Parts: sequence; structure tokens; C-alpha cells
Amino acid sequence: MSFADLGLSDELLRAVTESGYTEPTPVQQQAIPSVLMMRDLIAIAQTGTGKTAAFVLPMIDILGQGRTRALMPRSLILEPTRELAAQVAENFEKYGKYQKLSMALLIGGVQMGDQVKALEKGVDVLIATPGRLMDLFERGKILLTGCDLLVIDEADRMLDMGFIPDIENICTKLPSNRQTLLFSATMPPPIKKLADKFLSNPKTIEVARPATTNINIAQFLVETENRKKREVLRDLLRREDVNTAIIFCNRKTTVRELATSLKRHRFAAGEIHGDMDQPSRLRELDRFKSGDINVLVASDVAARGLDVKGVSHVFNFDAPWHPDDYVHRIGRTGRAGATGRAFTFVTKEDAEAIENIEKLTGQTIERIKPAKVEPTEEARPARSPRSAGAPEEERPARLRKTEARVPSEKPVRQTRERAPSREVDQPDEGWNGPVPDFLSHGFN
Ligand code: ADP
Ligand code: MG
Repeated sequence: MSFADLGLSDELLRAVTESGYTEPTPVQQQAIPSVLMMRDLIAIAQTGTGKTAAFVLPMIDILGQGRTRALMPRSLILEPTRELAAQVAENFEKYGKYQKLSMALLIGGVQMGDQVKALEKGVDVLIATPGRLMDLFERGKILLTGCDLLVIDEADRMLDMGFIPDIENICTKLPSNRQTLLFSATMPPPIKKLADKFLSNPKTIEVARPATTNINIAQFLVETENRKKREVLRDLLRREDVNTAIIFCNRKTTVRELATSLKRHRFAAGEIHGDMDQPSRLRELDRFKSGDINVLVASDVAARGLDVKGVSHVFNFDAPWHPDDYVHRIGRTGRAGATGRAFTFVTKEDAEAIENIEKLTGQTIERIKPAKVEPTEEARPARSPRSAGAPEEERPARLRKTEARVPSEKPVRQTRERAPSREVDQPDEGWNGPVPDFLSHGFN
């Protein structure tokens, strides 16, 4: 099936072709015709299956007709994070370049002045995070009564982030005869309830079983202990054919410490977590995308939904606490038909988390034991690793494909890593400082 079979306009097809897409993904094939027919829709499909274009493309054609009115956005897209909101905005720019649609982005931290001005003139598309939208609504800066089309994207993330009450509240401000589209990777009961309450006679499409992990991802559990994790990781980074890797940690402190440790060991590593200000996060992401660094250590919130292409490996340095996070994390690799590898470090304490992951995904993940990680007492050097020129110090900072494949015959790393310090901080819940205008930054 081609995009031309879906009933989209010629202008839009031209923009799609120019973007390099040749064939709609399954969720796009099923969603687009229904959205064009103005039906309500529930689409459940795993991360990386192209859900964004499944609503952006038909919306561009729907909104191509009709006119804007001051203060009254014609459509509203709710996103859980600023990064995702910015990505959706970019999609509108990319595919809507032959149709002149106006758009405003309401996300935490961004200066509201220009956005409010845009709203006052009237916009076709308003993309917002729920908190910021409610804030503006309560101050009377916006009317939602002209909003005939609502998209609730990444609904399961919204749930995780506590946005469901805000979304319910927002739904009641919109005209009741609107069209509502809900997208999610999984369908936990509270999302089902939300859908029952606010969607009418929706068409439901389910591309894969909820929370099924992508078959293009080879998954492994690596049995280890907390104090050996860093060494096991370095070893895997060297042996695996790592092109680019994202390493997930459960806590911000771990992200910071691990990134520092990897850099010390000459890996081209960077970090992204909720304590960083937005410019730093974007800078780090750009470095990763441009290939300046090829290892990104990340927390869940900071990495949520980031669309970084061609990540060959995902490492869960910590087994995620929530099984849904597992699906989201490993969904960073194996995207759009490519294959990927995902390694999850498990310690004794993670037994329950792993059980939940296997229950949710309905598969048993292969367990492997790390090959060469026992720090040997007698092999310990007298001098510091730096002055002694420990094996990994000699490796170039960036892993090269051919090199990474060659099993290292070098001896076991000879120093014992300092055990990671006790984590005392809170899980990464995001960041709330000022941000520059997202639209000027590339996310795709
Ligand atoms: P989801 O929201 O389902 O997690 P996204 O909409 O972010 O997924 O898309 C994931 C990736 O797939 C993006 O890099 C996007 O550019 C790409 N993509 C989307 N649709 C297509 C398509 N029809 N053909 C090729 N790549 C696509
Ligand atoms: Mg998405």
C-alpha cells in the first residue's frame, strides 16, 4: 500500500515523498483513512511505529479547509513532554510545508509572549503539555470552544506522569461533538477508562499486542552485581558492534556518575537527565545525533520519546522499575525496520521487576552471564590506572565498528571500580527551568 492510497491531498503527498517515506507504516495505513472520515480513534502501537504521522498527516488535510479565529485554536494536540511536543511541531512543519497552517506550542519553560500573540491571532494547531495549557486556560488567554479535533498522544506516558486529571479537565472544555484521537503504546485500565468517557464510538486499531516488544530487537538479561555493573558495561560496549548506544539509569545521580566514569575510560559519552537545563540537553542530543559522541547515558524522563535514528544498542544499566518503561527504553533501538540489541543488567534485587517485564511482554528474555568481569585481586596494579596506562586508556575514544567486533584479548581491567555511591536523589521527574524556542532546534 502506498501513501497515495490513503486519500491524502497531492500537496501532502509531495511533502511526504520529499521526506523520504515510501510506504505508510501499519498504524498509518489503518489510522489515516478513519481520521480523514472524522472518526474517533484509539490506536495502540508500540514505540517507533510511526504514530505521529498517523495523526499529523490527516490533520494537515482536515485543517487545510476552514479558517482560524482569534483566541480559538481549531485543533489541540496534548503531549506529555516538551521534547515530544517539539517533535510533533516539527512534523507539522515538514509535512505541512505546502499548506499554510498556523501553529502554536505551549510547553513549560518556554517564554509565553510570542505564543500568546499567535493564539490571539488564531491558530490551526495548538500543541501543548497539559499543565501549561490549563495554566493559560485558567488565565483566560485561550478559548477551547472552537477546538473540533483533539489528539491525546502518548497516553500511557501521560498516565505515568500524572496528567490524567488535567486531560479530563481539558476534555470538558472542548465542544462535545469534536473528533478525538488517542494514541498509546499500551492500554492500561485508566487509559481505557479515559477513552470510554471521552471518545465516542471510536475505531480501535491495535497494531501489535499491547506492550509487545519489537521482534527486531534481540534482548538479553545480564546477570551481575551492582558493584560490577560499570565494568560489565564497558566490556559489553567494547565487544558488541556498538554504533550508537543509549544507556538508561533509574536515577539522575547514576546518569551523571556513569557518564563521568565512561568519559574517564575514554568512551565518547554524554548524558541527558532532568537536572540539566534545556539548552544543555539539546546540545548533548545534537552531539549524539551528529556523531560527536556515540554513547548517551540517560534517565527515562529526559529520553522519553526522543526520536534518535539508528541506535544500535540500548543498555539498561538499571532494570526499570515499571515494566512499561522497559518497552519504551528498548524501543529506542530496532526502529523503522532496523535491528537492534538490548541488554538489561539484573541483580538479585531486580527479580520482581524482571518478572513483571516478562509478564507484560509475554516473553522470556534470554539470560546471559557476563564473560570477563571478575576483578582479580592479584592483577591489581600498584599505580593508578591513568599513569599505569590501563588497557582501555589506549583505546581511541570512539568505538569503531570493526574494532568493537574483535573480542578483546586484553587482560581483565585491573583496578577495582569504586562501588557506585549510594543513590539518595529522587527519580528523574523532569525539569522545569526556562527553555529556548523549540522550533529552532532539529529533533528529527
Ligand atoms: P511513535 O510515536 O509510534 O513512537 P514516531 O512517530 O516517533 O513513532 O516515528 C518513529 C520513527 O519512524 C521516526 O523516525 C519517523 O520519522 C519514522 N517513520 C514514521 N513513519 C514512517 C514511514 N512511513 N516510513 C519510514 N519511517 C517512518
Ligand atoms: Mg509518539
